[in-house]
Amino acid sequence: MTELIKTPRTGETLPVKAGKRTNPLANVFDELVRFAQSRSLFMLHYCTGCGAIELPPSMTSRFDMERLGIQPMVSPRQADILLVTGYVSVKTLKRIILTYEQMGSPKYVIGICSCTVNGGMYWQSYATAKKLNDYMPVDIYIAGCMPRPEAVIAGLRELMENIRQGKADSWKDYYRHYDHYLGHQQRLFGETWQTPTDVIAEARHYGLFGPDTLGTHTALLEQHQRPLEALEMKVDIPELMARR
Ligand code: SF4
Repeated sequence: MTELIKTPRTGETLPVKAGKRTNPLANVFDELVRFAQSRSLFMLHYCTGCGAIELPPSMTSRFDMERLGIQPMVSPRQADILLVTGYVSVKTLKRIILTYEQMGSPKYVIGICSCTVNGGMYWQSYATAKKLNDYMPVDIYIAGCMPRPEAVIAGLRELMENIRQGKADSWKDYYRHYDHYLGHQQRLFGETWQTPTDVIAEARHYGLFGPDTLGTHTALLEQHQRPLEALEMKVDIPELMARR
């Protein structure tokens, strides 16, 4: 496939053919980058259910997750992995989606516990979301009620291997099929649901805008979207001085 690319300096339009990188050195460099990426992962653990109790032993001395190059991170902006550790209530799911959208790409999601796979023992609960991958792409599921630290480590190792081989690209699905994910989110939260992230602009930015990025659900979003208000912080100096 030939694409037309505008050169930044002269503004000239040139045809560029997409193809495999043939320079062996470039391929070695790509492999090195992927290897480094797979061995330096920041993990945001979103402790939603009882499965979270398996994380302290996975992180500390006996199983020692850090020996794999994986370390906990408190901010979504710096995190690579989002770990969802059990059943997800409808209210919590909103926060998980906000967190996921705030993470920089490439990003990976791991669902721990059977509850993230199919709702588990909360299958009939009115307040619980059943399948996490209806709302965001999930890279690895670690099933069990609850899975032991060995299983958690095995799941993480599998993700690392997928990253090293360049196969862990489910995050691209969120951009390519945004309308599908947004549709599931709207079914649960109502058609006025919106997040502060402009996913469609991000899809364009990453070159992942596809025929399924937009659809009936993004049209609904456009219809209801409210402009985001800037946060304002007012400091009343005289009042502060009076308090001292
Ligand atoms: S699978 Fe079991 S341990 Fe995990 S969150 Fe569900 S009920 Fe709790």
